[in-house]
Amino acid sequence: MLVDDILENNRRFIREYQAQPLPPPETIPLAVVACYDPRLDALVHRALGLLPGEAFVLRTAGALVQPQGGVMRSLMLAVFMFGVRHILVVGHTSCRMAAFDTAAFIDAFRSRGVPREAFGPGDLRSWAGAIPGVREGVLLSIASIRGTPCLPRDVSVGGAILDDTSGRLEVVVQPAEPVPSPKEAVAPPAVEPPPTVEPEERPPPEAPEAKDELVQAVRTLGRILSSTKGFRPALGRVRNQLERSTNPLEHIDILEKQARAVGAESADILAAFQHLRREVAQRRGRPEWKEVIQLLRELTRP
Ligand SMILES: [Zn+2]
Repeated sequence: MLVDDILENNRRFIREYQAQPLPPPETIPLAVVACYDPRLDALVHRALGLLPGEAFVLRTAGALVQPQGGVMRSLMLAVFMFGVRHILVVGHTSCRMAAFDTAAFIDAFRSRGVPREAFGPGDLRSWAGAIPGVREGVLLSIASIRGTPCLPRDVSVGGAILDDTSGRLEVVVQPAEPVPSPKEAVAPPAVEPPPTVEPEERPPPEAPEAKDELVQAVRTLGRILSSTKGFRPALGRVRNQLERSTNPLEHIDILEKQARAVGAESADILAAFQHLRREVAQRRGRPEWKEVIQLLRELTRP
């Protein structure tokens, strides 16, 4: 719709509208965070039984509340300035942010002349606020809200999923309930640099099944990468770098960079990288730390 159409609509509107100032602001006890999907416009208020003006309904892609951002700012202002005491995060079943296609996003901005660098050096999926799943997205948002130091203790934070076909609301986290940790795939990658000195006290050797998990994580990634078009040839460009590196986390970074360079940025691939990175980071200072390098080299052998 063009702006001219809107202005024409508005001219028609004011002919009928009885001019009146807004009522004075009042205390509003509830804030709802829902997805910005326009298909939900008619549904959210009705499904939650809310009259217009009865709650702050904040709409944002994927209903994702990040620790720093406009939605958090609005929520905290609503808490302190308008008496919000309850916050409810509402994800919805067919949320497109849970199926965010990073490759399509990249194609879209490149084809409009915007370079990758415009989005900063960080992860594109984080930039976009892609969620690994509807339930996980709700859990992440609740964790962000409960985790902000600005949140007073007397404010409850809960979460639910709206079935956008049936209209049914399913509670994911009751306001008083602790937040279950979102499944492994959504945990942030371990980013701490490796220590430059060996720790003095070596932790006890690991149980065999724990090591199996590491091998499993390497194999899973290997399987995904071997079916990724263009990844093998791309490895040739970093072969020397991989041979020189003795830090498994650096190895993983190099592999991920190459995977991204050939557009392999699906949720599965990124989750496999994150999972492996976490498995590896846990083994810092253990004997397996060095073995991981061998496993990774096998993975990338020509
Ligand atoms: Zn959505």
